Amino acid sequence: MTAFKALGLEEHLLKAIADMGFETPSEVQEKAIPILLERETDMVSLAQTGTGKTAAFGFPMLQKIDVNSRTTQGLILSPTRELCLQITNEMIAYGKYMPGLNVTAIYGGASITDQAKQIKKGSQIIVATPGRMKDMIGRGLVDISKIEYCVLDEADEMLNMGFYEDITDILSHSPKDKSTWLFSATMPKEVSTIAKKFMHTPVEITVGTKNVGSDQVSHEYYLVNARDRYNALKRLADANPDIFSVVFCRTKRDTQKVAEQLIEDGYNAAALHGDLSQNQRDLVMKSFRARQIQMLVATDVAARGIDVDDITHVINYQLPDEIETYTHRSGRTGRAGKTGISMVIVSKSEVRKIHTIEKMIQKKFIAKEIPSGMEICEVQMFHLANSIKDTAINHEIDPYLPNINEVLADFSKEELIKKVFSVEFTRFLNYYKNSKDLNISGDRKFSDEEAKDSTRYFINIGNKDDFDWMSLKDFLRDLLQLGKDDVYKVDVKDSFSFFNTDTTHEELVMGIFKDFKLDGRQINIEISKDTGRSKGKSSGGAGRDRGRRRGDRNDRGDRNDRGDRGDRGDRGGDRGERRGSFKKRSGSSSNDKPSFKGKSRRTNERPETKGTGGRRRRNG
Ligand code: ADP
Ligand code: MG
Repeated sequence: MTAFKALGLEEHLLKAIADMGFETPSEVQEKAIPILLERETDMVSLAQTGTGKTAAFGFPMLQKIDVNSRTTQGLILSPTRELCLQITNEMIAYGKYMPGLNVTAIYGGASITDQAKQIKKGSQIIVATPGRMKDMIGRGLVDISKIEYCVLDEADEMLNMGFYEDITDILSHSPKDKSTWLFSATMPKEVSTIAKKFMHTPVEITVGTKNVGSDQVSHEYYLVNARDRYNALKRLADANPDIFSVVFCRTKRDTQKVAEQLIEDGYNAAALHGDLSQNQRDLVMKSFRARQIQMLVATDVAARGIDVDDITHVINYQLPDEIETYTHRSGRTGRAGKTGISMVIVSKSEVRKIHTIEKMIQKKFIAKEIPSGMEICEVQMFHLANSIKDTAINHEIDPYLPNINEVLADFSKEELIKKVFSVEFTRFLNYYKNSKDLNISGDRKFSDEEAKDSTRYFINIGNKDDFDWMSLKDFLRDLLQLGKDDVYKVDVKDSFSFFNTDTTHEELVMGIFKDFKLDGRQINIEISKDTGRSKGKSSGGAGRDRGRRRGDRNDRGDRNDRGDRGDRGDRGGDRGERRGSFKKRSGSSSNDKPSFKGKSRRTNERPETKGTGGRRRRNG
């Protein structure tokens, strides 16, 4: 907090900052705020997404405006409606101890009359998208002739979206002697042009290297056949039961298609793209923020700048056309000090693009393999065990317990556990048992021969114990006194991990962990049935035997016939139980269905041929 004070911020802002839980200023805030507070100057600030740019211009603007005046003094232009609303909300939160402060959002797709009314009440700060702003200026509904501060936020994206002329037009109605603060993640030619044209000797601030991704994000790619893209996506989701992700597609059409398929297959997914109405987009974003949606399938434009906390994974279902866009995508995760993973599903023809991206972000990708069916089963079972462990007991079931206990009286705890897991997983296991290897054989690190002599272990330590794959590998190597490459395929999940050693080391590993404690906790290790990659059992279609048959797809047809394609809000309605199951998983509310129900339902893999239905027990 003192660190914020040292930047020169006033008490009321410090109080609001404390309420927001910010402890130390980010780099861009540290660099920009003192300058903007001290001087009237133009500024060009380059910082990747998620570095706290909003506060970097928001705090100084709030401190500098006069809340006792009703004149509009600050204008913030941003590329999308979502971003516009997000900035507005942030500004209101920062200015919560500034009585009389009015921040108004101006954007398309909502009533212009209502927005004009709000402005008329006297807004010191307007946050606007360029199109609607220009429109309102043209109709004489806003007056920006006295603004002192103008922010161009996400300038690169505004220009990408073709707002150059609108911006020029808007600025021509503003005073020449205002201060212009431009914020951007990248600095393409167009941005420097606009800086030259509209700014006078701006102070330049660069945080990190231009276009370089956040250190908090690790990058992975998965090489699959193009036709397996969708199944690969589902396996990635299944292997990460707590996933909270944005899935990027290249086109609106693909976005819609992938989201529809995911929903069809029982995932908490929704689409976000420009063909949805504003209202639909708002609903989608609201559910996403509330975590009712686990997989937000989005186009680049629609998801630009969206700031939702704690996104665990960004999945590049397809790579973007423009390589620079990758930075924006991966910047949706690893925000505010958290770590995140950016995954890319690539086909052979695209793999060279990975190297181009590596050069741009100056980071290496990890070549990973799509988890095998059995690996996913292990993950899911352990996840179920953990959620059972963490579930708060619902005493509303008490009256029924005597009868239930009577039915189950003859079983020991061990037997009951086996039964519970069998109830949930028998069909699931049968399904995944023979699922095929989705990885392209040519690029495997381990040949089948090698895999045979390799042992995969399961160990009950993971992210929760502050391990990542590198530190776990180091830890294991030290402990086992093994060489540099003797522990491999380390895959760290939240509360457990997998790793491999050559089978010759099996005894050593099992021996050391026989009675091993870490910080007083007993560490369990087991030999995993899986070798760390599926051996490509060839049948490849276990799913075809299960799941729903062609005829069952009728009810999907019905839904589509309603003609509400894309109306996620509506669709969300008949998926209450699934949303419930997710909520439960993230540890909230109580009266949802037991989470494992939801989970086993959604882990069902879409059969790899067309026509047989994906979901199982959808009505159950
Ligand atoms: P950018 O515009 O650079 O993409 P944002 O301004 O949207 O980034 O900020 C990203 C997230 O970080 C937001 O959730 C914001 O509330 C949070 N944040 C900003 N500054 C700080 C800080 N100093 N400490 C902690 N969190 C912060
Ligand atoms: Mg921003």
